[in-house]
Amino acid sequence: MQNVLLITIDSLRPDHVHHLGYSRETTPNLDEIARHGSTFQNAITNGPSTRFAFVSILGSDYSFMQPELGLPGTVENSLAEILQSSGYATAAFHTVGWLSHVYGYDRGFSEYVDESKWGPLEGQFKFFVRKYMGRWLPPMGSIISSIRKLLSIGGRFGHRLAFSYQPAPEINSSAISWIKTQKQPCFVWLHYMDAHLPYWPRNEHLVEFRGSEVSIDKAINVCEKAHKNISSLTAEERKLLIDLYDAEIKFVDQSIGDMIRELDDWLIVITADHGEEFGEHGGFHQHSVFDEMLRVPLIIQHPNHSGGLSIPYQVSLIDIAPTILDLLDLPHVDSFRGESLVPYIDGRIQEHRCILSGYIDENDRVIACRDGKWKLIVSESKRNKLFNLRLDPLEKNNVINKYPDVVEKLEKFIHDNTLELVDKPANLRHEIGLTDTSKERLRDLGYLD
Ligand SMILES: [Zn+2]
Repeated sequence: MQNVLLITIDSLRPDHVHHLGYSRETTPNLDEIARHGSTFQNAITNGPSTRFAFVSILGSDYSFMQPELGLPGTVENSLAEILQSSGYATAAFHTVGWLSHVYGYDRGFSEYVDESKWGPLEGQFKFFVRKYMGRWLPPMGSIISSIRKLLSIGGRFGHRLAFSYQPAPEINSSAISWIKTQKQPCFVWLHYMDAHLPYWPRNEHLVEFRGSEVSIDKAINVCEKAHKNISSLTAEERKLLIDLYDAEIKFVDQSIGDMIRELDDWLIVITADHGEEFGEHGGFHQHSVFDEMLRVPLIIQHPNHSGGLSIPYQVSLIDIAPTILDLLDLPHVDSFRGESLVPYIDGRIQEHRCILSGYIDENDRVIACRDGKWKLIVSESKRNKLFNLRLDPLEKNNVINKYPDVVEKLEKFIHDNTLELVDKPANLRHEIGLTDTSKERLRDLGYLD
């Protein structure tokens, strides 16, 4: 049986990935993996935030159809459960509270290392030494004074930034230690947070893109200012924000390369839970259904497949679980809403899939439907919108009144695929069930206003 590695990168826009067209060399390792695998140029998330994407990735279902957050019992099967019952040893490693076992994301994993197993002090110390002080260990007095300085930065991101998430190399090292102890074939899922705000990249990567280092205060301040109101950034601040983001992507990419080099002949699937927005429609890291949030990279590398394939057709994250089962010659699971992507890899299908993406929050339930040319956005509280993605890829021109036949067709697709739509969950306080430490970490990542 084939070992399987699923890597999800938080907040990675495909237009900042070099082999998908970005001019900067942010992703040499992803580019290399793509040369040996199949790249989907038009991969779309079904939920534009961590909270809404992973039901689709792990359960091949839609978050906006569920009566509660996370991976609830109404999602009949999870990918990990299927693989576990097929004889796989299953493990997941990440430290983001939104994917905590509290929300049921641990279903089917015999080893689930989430943030609840990552001690705050350990995290603070290791993160601090690696990221702020470099790799050498300074005298203790220097550490303490620097920690004080660090903790005095204040603001949303500053006060406990040092332990908001575990960096990718540490996640790798936990995963590799676990893999080495396994006798069965393995399914391993890793989720990296490094490209998620607040951006605080290693200087080596920042210097590559910017030509100079940036103080942590300046980096955190620009993230905070963008988070409050991205349209208030000056051109120079906006450039800094992008430089910081790109440098974080390069760090994640390097970590992915380090991880992959430890593995021989694994099936590797790499994607992101959603993209990132830099004010294109006014927001920064909000859960909108515009394309800057919906488009994601997707690479599938199978050791028995020839590489270098680039597939232009539109597919989505609900297709990942069925594809992995198909590549492992395991039977299709009827409860999965997605379909295998193998027919795209072997050329049997050459057309766009019609895709739903959406979210629920306290104020609204929003569902976007796209057929490869058109995108209809249906909202419970705002005016619906229609965009021609071919003529208007930036989604600036709402043409809903001009094409009633297109609206009717996409509305019918939404209706036919959401027949079991339940009432909005009564309680959407996402942080319920999390520990105080988890909530603090989420605050450090910009959540829980
Ligand atoms: Zn995310």
